[in-house]
Amino acid sequence: MQRLRVGILGATGAVGQQFVRLLERHPWFDVTAVAASARSAGRRYRDAVQWISGGAIPDSVADLEVVEAGQSLPVDLVFSGLDASVAGAIETGYAEAGVAVLSNARNHRMKPDVPLLIPEVNPDHAGLIDRQGFPPGGMIVTNPNCATVGLVCALKPLVDAFGVETVQVTTMQAVSGAGYPGVPSLDILGNVIPFIGGEEAKVETEPLKILGRFDGEVVTPLDARVSAQCNRVPVLDGHLASASIGLGRRATVAEVLAALRAFRSPLHDLGLPSAPERFLDVTEDDRYPQPRRHVDAGGGMTVSVGRVRACPVLDVRLVALVHNTVRGAAGGAILNAELLVHQGRIRARNQP
Ligand code: NAP
Repeated sequence: MQRLRVGILGATGAVGQQFVRLLERHPWFDVTAVAASARSAGRRYRDAVQWISGGAIPDSVADLEVVEAGQSLPVDLVFSGLDASVAGAIETGYAEAGVAVLSNARNHRMKPDVPLLIPEVNPDHAGLIDRQGFPPGGMIVTNPNCATVGLVCALKPLVDAFGVETVQVTTMQAVSGAGYPGVPSLDILGNVIPFIGGEEAKVETEPLKILGRFDGEVVTPLDARVSAQCNRVPVLDGHLASASIGLGRRATVAEVLAALRAFRSPLHDLGLPSAPERFLDVTEDDRYPQPRRHVDAGGGMTVSVGRVRACPVLDVRLVALVHNTVRGAAGGAILNAELLVHQGRIRARNQP
C-alpha cells in the first residue's frame, strides 16, 4: 500500500502533540506538514512547541517548519487539533481543496452530513461522506467530545442488547482536556471546578447522534435523554464518567455485565494499526477503573468500565474511563482515518 502524506493542523497544541507522538513510525502515514497559528509559523517545530507529550519530539517532525493553518499543503489528509475559534472555516477550506479532514474540533460535529465517528460504534455513518459534495478526496469527518467518547463506548453494548432511554451522567475530567496551558494551577490544584464551558450540552447531544441509526441518507438520533454534569478535577489525563442508565427493557446486573463483555468490535479482523486488542476492559473490582492506573490501557485506546451495579432510581449504574487526548482525541481521529483508508474513502492524491 502507498504511504499517505499527513498534515497536522494545530500541531503545537495538546492534541496536536498527541498526533505527532502517535504517528511516529505509523505503518501507513507519514507526517510531512505541521501547521498552527501565525504565532508559530516560520519556526522549526521543536522551537515553536512547548512539548508536554512525554518522550522526545520525533526526529522526523522536530525540524519541519511550522506553516500557518489554512495554507495549501501537499498532503493526502489532515488531522485537525485546531482551536474551535478558527477550526470551522480552515477545515472547510481543506475539504474544498480535495483534502480529507479528520477533526477533533466541535465546529462541524453536529452537521447532518458530517460523520461523528467512533469506528467500533458507528462505522456505517462514514456513508454520510457521500452526501457532502466536496471535490474528490475532500471530506470532513469528526470525532466526539472527549468526555462523550467514554460514555458512548460503554453505552453501545447496552443500546444493542436492551435499548437505552435515559442517562444521568457526572464526569470528572482531566486538566489536559483544557489544552495547553489550560486551567491555571491556582484554580485546579487541591480543587474541583463544577463547570466546563459548553461541555454539558455536547455530552447531552453527541451520544444521540453517534448511537443513532443511519439509513443511507440521514442519521436518526437515538430516542433517549441524557442529563450531564461536568467537573474539572486535578487529574493529568483521563476522563471518568459515572452514569445511571434507564434501559429499554429490564435486565439484571449479570445480564448487563454479560452484554458489555460479549460486545464484539466490528474492527476485529480488519487489521487497523490503532485498533486496540480490547475495545472495552470490564472489571468487577470495585476500586477500578482509576485514571492513574488504567488510562493507558490498550495504548490509551481501550475504554475501561467498572462499578456495574443496580440503580435504585434508574436501572443500572457504571463508571467509564477514557484517555481524553488519545481515544478521546488524536488516537480516535487516527483510527477514523484508518477505517476510511480501509473502506477506500481516503486514498493518495496525485503526488509530484
Ligand atoms: P490547545 O492546546 O490550546 O491547542 C490549540 C492549537 O490551535 C494550537 O496548535 C494553536 O497554535 C492552534 N491555534 C490557535 N489559534 C489559532 C489560529 N488563530 N490560527 C491557527 N491555529 C491556531 O488545544 P487542544 O486541547 O489541543 O485542543 C485542540 C482542539 O481539539 C480543540 O478544538 C478542542 O476542543 C479539541 N479537543 C481537545 C481535547 C483534549 O482532551 N484536549 C479532546 C477532544 C477535542 P499556536 O500554538 O500557534 O497558538
